[in-house]
Amino acid sequence: MSEKRVLLSEKDLPTSWYNLQADLPKPLPPVLHPGTRQPVGPDDLAPLFPMALIMQEVSQERWIEIPQEVRDALTIWRPTPLVRATNLERALKTPARIYFKDESHSPAGSHKPNTAIAQAFYNKQEGINRLTTETGAGQWGSALSFASKIFDIQCKVYMVKVSYHQKPYRRSMMQLWGGQVTPSPSEETEAGRQLLAADPDTPGSLGMAISEAVEAAVTRDDTKYSLGSVLNHVLLHQTIIGLEAEKQFEMIGDSPDVVIGCCGGGSNFAGLAFPFVAQKIKGKDIRFVGAEPCSCPTMNHGEYRYDFGDTTMLTPLIKMHTLGHSFVPPGIHAGGLRYHGMAAMVSHAVDLGLIEPAEFHQLECFEAAQLFAATEGTIPAPETSHAIRAAINEAIRCREEGKEECIVFNFSGHGICDLGAYDKYLGGELEDYAYPKEKIAAALAELPQVE
Ligand SMILES: *Cc1c(COP(=O)(O)O)cnc(C)c1O
Repeated sequence: MSEKRVLLSEKDLPTSWYNLQADLPKPLPPVLHPGTRQPVGPDDLAPLFPMALIMQEVSQERWIEIPQEVRDALTIWRPTPLVRATNLERALKTPARIYFKDESHSPAGSHKPNTAIAQAFYNKQEGINRLTTETGAGQWGSALSFASKIFDIQCKVYMVKVSYHQKPYRRSMMQLWGGQVTPSPSEETEAGRQLLAADPDTPGSLGMAISEAVEAAVTRDDTKYSLGSVLNHVLLHQTIIGLEAEKQFEMIGDSPDVVIGCCGGGSNFAGLAFPFVAQKIKGKDIRFVGAEPCSCPTMNHGEYRYDFGDTTMLTPLIKMHTLGHSFVPPGIHAGGLRYHGMAAMVSHAVDLGLIEPAEFHQLECFEAAQLFAATEGTIPAPETSHAIRAAINEAIRCREEGKEECIVFNFSGHGICDLGAYDKYLGGELEDYAYPKEKIAAALAELPQVE
């Protein structure tokens, strides 16, 4: 019987991130300029991001060194434990071994600070002293506020107005870490003023908040914009999760047969999975399962084609699995999984048959979360519950087939700021949403014709 918690020491913290672009059997399709529809160059992105991150975005190098300052900041909570879910295994009577990589240990309570720290560092290094971003429920805004405080730069967060009022605790976290939080749409930007003129009572949306954050970045020289998922450099920074997990499996002489993560923009899944995808490309037999909500099934039912990353069509065109930039998903509690697109690299890997998508309803995910909390203790974020549901289903399959497989999933975050959602679940007030077929078809009909 192996140990319950597999722990690395600080000196085992990876020294480089892993770039899957170096090993893809087919290169990624280029990102296109929204106006010219030609591949974007570094100069097109320079108003938004520091050059170091733009170079990481397009890099074909397999290993990219993690700066010492970033490693120092990451040791506030890293390396994170790989935990064997022995109590969950017993409850399921499964012969499978279930492990989870526990990313809930970070200050913000999720994997998101892994990239926030790196992004804040590179901005600071290039003389930027102010970052803008958007946040929905507040996970990303709190991660970037924390990271900005560590590197002594200002952080301006446009928070979707309805969440600003509904999620006061995430707002408090951001403010404690020095973040300036503004409900969006706001009077502070031209985009916000236009949106408010059109509808003074709008609840706001992520798409609107992105428009404000981007405008606020490009109109000031000392300010850049930061994104918490989807982009190649974000996925790169998250690979520290999988690289640590690889070492932890080596230490205990085990290795995964199935690797699982929940997918919003794809960053926590990619972070755990990509180092193992490299093993698969070299011939190892591993399955990868990306878990999505049935109400926002980007990889399961979207189309793989060029689309905008935001609702207001400001961003470059990315080839990805998409439900259409105008699609507004139902209000499930896993707010971090309500994104119309999927990271280009995850989409490409799905297209190449390296990754299988799966989809789950809200209630079966909350049931899985409750079983996890009852056996392993920690209360999962609603997003994370999708990965847990997928892992439990795989473990049940192993029981039925009598197979002793090794399953690992990414425990992307805790749910201590999401207890309102659990209240509703316990009160029997939560419902499943049907697959929004007509709305998705309508949004897909609005996609730009590129190919
Ligand atoms: C933001 C978030 C997600 C979804 O984002 P990805 O980029 O797909 O990882 C998942 N889990 C938690 C806890 C989050 O905060």
